[in-house]
Amino acid sequence: MRSLEEVLKAGIRDIPDYPQAGVVFKDITPLLADHDGFAHVVQALAESGKDEDGNVVVDKVVGIEARGFILAAPVALALGAGFVPVRKKGKLPAATYEESYALEYGEATIEVHQDAFAPGERVLVIDDVLATGGTVEACLRLVRRCGAEVVGTTVLLELSFLPGRERLAEEQLTALVTV
Ligand code: AMP
Repeated sequence: MRSLEEVLKAGIRDIPDYPQAGVVFKDITPLLADHDGFAHVVQALAESGKDEDGNVVVDKVVGIEARGFILAAPVALALGAGFVPVRKKGKLPAATYEESYALEYGEATIEVHQDAFAPGERVLVIDDVLATGGTVEACLRLVRRCGAEVVGTTVLLELSFLPGRERLAEEQLTALVTV
């Protein structure tokens, strides 16, 4: 069986100058197309939703649009937890909270349904790539505005040359791989 490290190395490719010059885009589509690799990664991400004894400690798993959805939904199922989408502005149909933030490339606003969580629910946030940390930071603000408790944030890949981890210094942050 391949190690998690091998799976991630084979499954995430660099696309230079996408979506703009100077950005190296981390493309996870090869990983998603690899059934065993994807399953391995989902299992590894789901560990963040358990304590040392293997008990599930989260009620909801949040995925951040769009690649976060692909990862967080199977993690939620693996944990027996609910899935909550955090979406780009204008996509969610019911009443929302919104938060704006600066991206590595551009600016964005994300939203969550105001009734996505029951008060005090425990939440694991999942995304594919941590870059400047702005997206995750805004997402955590949204979860907390809903009255839920953030148990942790887990990403597939962390870009260590950007200040994401510094920015989230107060948070429980896990990355499956750091480059
Ligand atoms: P940031 O808010 O700067 O941490 O950016 C994180 C968000 O932007 C995540 O949702 C990623 O999907 C996306 N992102 C930022 N930089 C990259 C990159 N180099 N490769 C792929 N996705 C990225």
